[in-house]
Amino acid sequence: MSGMFEMIENHDRDGITEKIRKGNENLSVYMDSITVENGIGYCAVKIDHERYILAACEDVNAIELEGEAKDDHKLCKWDEENAERLRKVLPYTVPRACDKDKASFGTGDRLGLAGGGHVRCVKGRDVFPVLAQQSIRELTQTERSYRDVIDCASWAVFQEGYQEGFGADGDHLKTMEEIQMAVNAGASMITLDLSEKLRGEAFGLDKEALTKVFEDEFDEDEREAILCEYENQEFYIEVDGEKQPIKFVYKDVLKNVICYYKGIEFATEVYTYLQEACSEKIDFEISIDEVGFPTTPRSHYFVASELDKRRVEIDSMAPCFVGEFQKAIDYIGDKEKFSEHLKLHCAIAKKFGDYKISVHSGSDKFSVYPIIAEITQGRFHVKTAGTSWVEAVKLIALKRPVLYREIHKYALESFNEAAKLYHVTTDLENIPDVDGLDDDKLAELFDNNDARQLIHITYGFILRAKDSKGKPLFRDRLYEAWNAEEDAHYELLESHIGKHLSLLGK
Ligand code: ZN
Repeated sequence: MSGMFEMIENHDRDGITEKIRKGNENLSVYMDSITVENGIGYCAVKIDHERYILAACEDVNAIELEGEAKDDHKLCKWDEENAERLRKVLPYTVPRACDKDKASFGTGDRLGLAGGGHVRCVKGRDVFPVLAQQSIRELTQTERSYRDVIDCASWAVFQEGYQEGFGADGDHLKTMEEIQMAVNAGASMITLDLSEKLRGEAFGLDKEALTKVFEDEFDEDEREAILCEYENQEFYIEVDGEKQPIKFVYKDVLKNVICYYKGIEFATEVYTYLQEACSEKIDFEISIDEVGFPTTPRSHYFVASELDKRRVEIDSMAPCFVGEFQKAIDYIGDKEKFSEHLKLHCAIAKKFGDYKISVHSGSDKFSVYPIIAEITQGRFHVKTAGTSWVEAVKLIALKRPVLYREIHKYALESFNEAAKLYHVTTDLENIPDVDGLDDDKLAELFDNNDARQLIHITYGFILRAKDSKGKPLFRDRLYEAWNAEEDAHYELLESHIGKHLSLLGK
């Protein structure tokens, strides 16, 4: 009988299965994961839905992962320590920065088990996946650590044998502590959300009030330097081969200075920290999208120019676009205007370091993807997350109708509380009563925008729901179903995320 190493090397699924099987356990061997590195063969295995790394080598002591050794192999449980060890021996399981010229796409696996499906979506496409992408709000809602999020992404690329590289985005981080946490956990991308440092109210002030704030908060030398640089100046960007002016009159200068100055200084501080703390390149994104008012090209120009002056090099910028980017539904607004707006943002990005424009709440914005693809010339960053959660729940509607009805009703009860966290225009009246629907009609709810938003924004409530004894109401049953129906889950993701990528020209 041949050894485990040879079986792994020969992709002998039956041999591997037979050798590790102990009884009647549910066993999956992921053939795409098979790789041989320094004389050690590795293979991803799930036994009763638990993750294991199977490692084999003639000299079993050469295997650095920890696990039960038998003959020439070890079966190593997937835990924090083994995840760390695997990242040392298989470098492609380490998140890394995106190449400058490549488009990137954030998939944000909130559940820690969609990653395999996400990897299958991007295989063979010219796009860099940011598989881990969690904001602090998402971590709180799902009760996960950022380290766990990265471990799950590492597992996904290992399981699928994806060696093209992937990113891990510490998304919408607002404080230095949050950034340090993400960097220490291994993030390869930091999205700095400046919303708490910005003062949008400046745009509503009159000249007198603006002048007062300006004089109170900036000393004379600063005021003079800023006015000298911007007041009544015209700057040029190139749009469709033609020069287009961006002009600042006195009030424009003060509005932008007052609104953005603290944010710009904070971004500089964070950039300096990243330069000092990280030995590897980190993708640095500035997000000014969650402020409640569209970012004018003039404001974008001001922020970009100030960052450039401070030698802060960013990799992407997320402005707030015209129109609405609501969760899990298509773009609402004037597509013509969006297109014009995006062109100007791209032209500004080109002038200041050629960074990418980042589109947040990018889930399901099918009608504007072709515009984004064309205007950015295929170099964009798009973030999605909730849409994968919605697909995961759709799977429940398809495969576990009884459980789905329970969840749906719970989501309705939680809706008002959840809606405080999001800007949505959901009308619950438009959602049919689930008790009146046949099982095979439940999945059609996912074609209904109001039902999509209902499920989208209540994810934290559903995952954290407990019964009177403190036991999870849904979580365990959901995970059991997602694990048991893994292939169907991946297929839903491949089709849905695949549609996103195809319309984005990838
Ligand atoms: Zn955002």
